[in-house]
Amino acid sequence: MESENISILIIYTGGTIGMVKNPKTGSLSPFDFDHILKQVPELNKFGYRLNTITFDPIIDSSNINPAFWIKLVKIIKENYDKYNGFVVLHGTDTMSYTASAVSFMLKNLSKPVIFTGSQLPIGTLRTDGKENLITSVEIAAAQQNSQPLVPEVCIYFENKLYRGNRTIKYNAEYFNAFTSDNYPALAKAGIHIKYNYSVIHYPTVKREFDIYTKLDSNVAVLKIFPGINRNVVASFFNIKDLKAVVLETFGSGNAPTQEWFLDEIEKAIKRRIIILNVTQCSAGSVDMGKYETSLELLNYGVISGYDITTEAAITKLMFLLGQGLNNEEIKKNLNKSIR
Ligand code: ASP
Repeated sequence: MESENISILIIYTGGTIGMVKNPKTGSLSPFDFDHILKQVPELNKFGYRLNTITFDPIIDSSNINPAFWIKLVKIIKENYDKYNGFVVLHGTDTMSYTASAVSFMLKNLSKPVIFTGSQLPIGTLRTDGKENLITSVEIAAAQQNSQPLVPEVCIYFENKLYRGNRTIKYNAEYFNAFTSDNYPALAKAGIHIKYNYSVIHYPTVKREFDIYTKLDSNVAVLKIFPGINRNVVASFFNIKDLKAVVLETFGSGNAPTQEWFLDEIEKAIKRRIIILNVTQCSAGSVDMGKYETSLELLNYGVISGYDITTEAAITKLMFLLGQGLNNEEIKKNLNKSIR
């Protein structure tokens, strides 16, 4: 396809990439999007049709919530047929949560949705924002035989393209803010952008694109630690309307075997709270039953999260609960890859 026939929608939601320093307080706050396009005139050189939508208000991604995700997928749906790909500019702090949630909320996606942002505002001399934005646009536009090269929800950052729902933000200082320890990069950008085709998901049948717009946020994360006491665990499971919990465990899914702890787990499961076991490690997988310390959890009905990230686990639970599925259906879906 000729480059002038390729159209990309850039959706600007906020984040450091478009922030400016408040001269009074010295802290960073979001600025308007014109600022970004003025800073990156190079984008016009691609020859693509580039349009932008700016969120109102633009936000620091620490303020992201399910209502924001719903708004975002609705924008993608409204514009789906008009564009070849989408680039979403988003704060890095919760980008992995948003990319995970959005991946679940988009049904039969066959176009690229590339999230990016930056560690330094785009107007600063050493910004990483320019390269991130320019390469994300190039990836969103990349095609072979009129088919997109990466029809997935991804995060592009520094020089790597990751499957969005496999990422975590692990670095608050250096430009390589994200990692995906349990799934290889879909592409690496150097002098050339090298795509790793064998790990990119290509839909085999073309089905109609749609979105899901229901999420249930009666979920919570319980990170266990040595010394966690009964008061903490009991109060946690007594949270009003709590429906599902991501239990962040040690290593390959291990937790204390003290009777009181298992007692609280058993009580919660009897109250039909879903408990998903996710490791605190950023690489590797939960393997319940490998040690005695996880066998008990398995026996009580805790579900294995295998190698899922906490970000994907919490958003997948919100998504599945939002679909009004019963506990058995939710458990089945937790044990398989739905995107
Ligand atoms: N606080 C910012 C945000 O997530 C950080 C960033 O964009 O890097 O919106």
